[in-house]
Amino acid sequence: MSVLKFLTVLGLFGVSFGFSGRFWHITDLHWDPTYDLSNNPDQVCASSGNRPASNAGTFGDYVCDSPWNLIESCLSAMKAISPDPDFIVWTGDDTPHVPNEQLGEEAVLGIINNLTYVIKKLFPNTKVYSALGNHDFHPKSQLPAAPHNIYNTTTEMWKGWLHLESQETFRHGGFYTEELLNRTGYRMIVLNTNLYYDQNKVTAGMEDPAGQFTWADNILTEAAKSKEKVYIIGHVPPGFFEKKRSTPWFTAKFNEKYLKLIQKHHAVILGQFFGHHHTDSFRMIYNTDGSPASTIFLTPGVTPWKTTLPGVTDGANNPGIRLFEYDTQTLLVKDMVTYYLNLTFANEAQERWEKEYRLTESFRVPDASPISMHTVLERIANDNCHLQKYYEYNSVSYDLTECNKDCRIDHVCAAREVDFSRYEHCLEKEGAVFTCGGLLPFLSVILSLVLTKYV
Ligand SMILES: [Zn+2]
Ligand SMILES: [Zn+2]
Repeated sequence: MSVLKFLTVLGLFGVSFGFSGRFWHITDLHWDPTYDLSNNPDQVCASSGNRPASNAGTFGDYVCDSPWNLIESCLSAMKAISPDPDFIVWTGDDTPHVPNEQLGEEAVLGIINNLTYVIKKLFPNTKVYSALGNHDFHPKSQLPAAPHNIYNTTTEMWKGWLHLESQETFRHGGFYTEELLNRTGYRMIVLNTNLYYDQNKVTAGMEDPAGQFTWADNILTEAAKSKEKVYIIGHVPPGFFEKKRSTPWFTAKFNEKYLKLIQKHHAVILGQFFGHHHTDSFRMIYNTDGSPASTIFLTPGVTPWKTTLPGVTDGANNPGIRLFEYDTQTLLVKDMVTYYLNLTFANEAQERWEKEYRLTESFRVPDASPISMHTVLERIANDNCHLQKYYEYNSVSYDLTECNKDCRIDHVCAAREVDFSRYEHCLEKEGAVFTCGGLLPFLSVILSLVLTKYV
């Protein structure tokens, strides 16, 4: 039998000949250089904002951003688990959650520089695709649509990871594109979505800050012509925060523009990878006919910092990192494995990074394609076991309480609808489902009483 025939026969039996690659995604490291165990509990770290760090230990506390030990521990874990990834995706937010007055431009750049240094030291020969976060600027979130010293200095720091053309656009607006690992037919787009963040006052009135939408539209149009396959990475994602109802990140106008961009070009986009939430979740983007078009994977943060966002109760997480497995020929995202450090256990007993879960195992899907992620979402929406599992992973196994009906609505609608009005409609619809569900047992009791009386 010829080799070709043999391969065809195996193909008929569903044996795939995928070419497997791996890459790390790390995000929201938020190093707090003030972390000091010798201080009183409410002074252990500036990022606690005077909240007592009652369980502070070598690897951190849930009310604090990452101590240096946690940063080193996370990078060593990556080195131990998968020392030779094809590349690393690093989606920003390096500085602690402290008031602007406690940082300044020099401090912000110093922190980015230290993190860049350790990543380079541990992975000297690995390509890193790096995006800026809203905390990688002073004042925070005010990233401009024009050249700036912070864009310039980070370009210098990341020179070894950037082609010449990338350096140019990065200095201009904090974004760039390159062939993925210099391979013809494959592309990485690194976006500066901080320009669309509703906290960013300097870009708020603009139509297309730094021309990034037009630029991305052109790149993706060319990609389609050249039959390229594309990954997109960035820090602040579009859509809503799943832990607080009706809380989007982008302004309405930018959210709509982003959604349209992806719907237009989804055929060449094989995955989007973002951070900012510090939680583990994902967002589906659908075509106008309702078919799954693209998935935004939200990787959890390294910092365990309990958010101070009003309305979120107990919004901390265990430190998490994620290894993606992908097909190097098609860029299909085949799987993702999340690793984590149980912070309490690490402080009390032993520094142990362990596998939290593998997507395909936990949610019984063949891969992480948009169709499979749609299936995952439907399982979460319609099956309490899957919902609870997803919910525990959402905080990287920190919050193990029950995800109740409001929680279900918040998580399902955030994952399902990136569009503002569709999201609000989803809240109504899913809320109504539950009202019905709540009424149904009551109605059936009434009905049975009526029937008992008359039958
Ligand atoms: Zn962050
Ligand atoms: Zn952020």
